[in-house]
Amino acid sequence: MPQALLLQLEECARAGGFDLLGLVDAHRFDATQPYELRCAREMSGCGTVIVVACGGSAPTEWAALRELQPMVQRAGYRAQFVEPTQGRLRLAALGEAAGLGTVSPVIHRLLHPMFGPRVIVGGAVLVEGQPFGPIADKSIAEHFQPCCNCPRPCLSTCPSVLAESSGHVHVDATRCTRERQRGACANACGVIRNCPVGAGQALPQVVESERHRYELARDLAIQGRGVWPAIRRWIGWW
Ligand code: SF4
Ligand code: SF4
Repeated sequence: MPQALLLQLEECARAGGFDLLGLVDAHRFDATQPYELRCAREMSGCGTVIVVACGGSAPTEWAALRELQPMVQRAGYRAQFVEPTQGRLRLAALGEAAGLGTVSPVIHRLLHPMFGPRVIVGGAVLVEGQPFGPIADKSIAEHFQPCCNCPRPCLSTCPSVLAESSGHVHVDATRCTRERQRGACANACGVIRNCPVGAGQALPQVVESERHRYELARDLAIQGRGVWPAIRRWIGWW
């Protein structure tokens, strides 16, 4: 039954354009996270996290992800869906733990071996216990580190590059959101376009624009400046 459930979840996510799915041992993940960003804090008894992401060019139906939690619950397991807009877990780090890529120390996005920085984690389903059995460590971060020794063409056109006093140069997410609100990068992200990882998997313009818009809305919500936090407060959601 648990394996059949996993196949159902994969099928449902894929139908919504989310072609990547991985499992994470919540206890192992939590041991690497600050207290306020732990799965166990979000849901007591959480032992498994199902991480879903999109990388390919299929149009994404975000509503499809809302089906995942009820599917797990109907199979008899307590579950909770975590939206990216809530900003309560590090979803990119969860994607890395699930083996869906490595979080770049330069652009802070998940880099997938095939899709590069085009991967977006769509959410995570927290599940009580380990109904799928023990979960092996699937992280590829130890041997997949494309940013090491890279000449960093991703930074060449980005207006949000921050140089730390330590010498570390990287993209600053808050600056990115501010620049985009001012009208920069209206249709696409130069960081994604200029990264050679997954360059052969460029998205059709319509899909790229849709995901680009989604990421701004998500980041505004996480940073508390978008319309979603106000709406959520007004209607009393989380
Ligand atoms: S261009 Fe190089 S440094 Fe930039 S994200 Fe891609 S692999 Fe990393
Ligand atoms: S959207 Fe623009 S500002 Fe933000 S990371 Fe991409 S290139 Fe930089």
